[in-house]
Amino acid sequence: MIVTRFAPSPNGHLHLGHAYSAIVAHDLAQAAGGRFLLRIEDIDGERSKPELAHEFRRDLEWLGLAWDEVPAQSTRIQSYRAAADRLAEMKLLYPCQCTRAEIAESASVHSPEGPIYPGTCKCASIDADKPVAWRLDVERAAERVGNLMWQDELAGEQIGNPRIFGDVILVRKALPASYHLAATLDDAADGVTLVTRGRDLFQATHIHRLLQALLELPVPRWHHHPILLDEEGKKLAKRRGSASLADLRNAGEDGSLLAEQLRSQNLPAGISLEKA
Ligand code: GLU
Repeated sequence: MIVTRFAPSPNGHLHLGHAYSAIVAHDLAQAAGGRFLLRIEDIDGERSKPELAHEFRRDLEWLGLAWDEVPAQSTRIQSYRAAADRLAEMKLLYPCQCTRAEIAESASVHSPEGPIYPGTCKCASIDADKPVAWRLDVERAAERVGNLMWQDELAGEQIGNPRIFGDVILVRKALPASYHLAATLDDAADGVTLVTRGRDLFQATHIHRLLQALLELPVPRWHHHPILLDEEGKKLAKRRGSASLADLRNAGEDGSLLAEQLRSQNLPAGISLEKA
């Protein structure tokens, strides 16, 4: 059975880009007689607002979507800890106390997500008074599992490239997991068979595929859909003035009609779909 999901973080309102993503995931599941899941990604307790999660449910309902909700990330801390412990036992994690500014200053290689961590803390001793994040020793991890492949429904077969972001953080300084670890574990726990999300997260999948191999998790397929762009050709963002779904809903707009327009790519003025 096909199981897809929409996994928004409740730290800002949903906009048209989210609506498109939810509709793609919903429709792929529906067309295959499968399940469409909603997972609230509220691992970042400081930035997450419970009232936004309620708002998201109203937004999806307004769009005419039906879903099954699975437990929010804040209820799954134990599973993140257990996975981090397992990776630590494999000697694949190391503590890092660098600040963003220190990394920006010392990095000489950059990835699509910013500076690649130069491994400063790999052999350093820990200062007990400073917060610690845990990084994956990607080289060692990749060697352990060998070559990996993964399958994107639109882009085809991909050769795993887990070194792309360097030694990524898996346990953040104040949080039990980073996005990469939490989302990978949750997708497995929720039985997601087709991970649907925007193409802006395509490269992150290389890390997720590596984590699946290390933690012996089932390997889903992926569907990275093109994303909606604003007039400047940038990803839609609330901070650049994209209307929120809640605003449109409160203004009395018809959500089902909007969903139909997004499906037929009959997009509002100034908004376009990223080219293949
Ligand atoms: N919570 C993530 C976001 O809102 C979800 C990413 C994903 O679908 O894997 O960007």
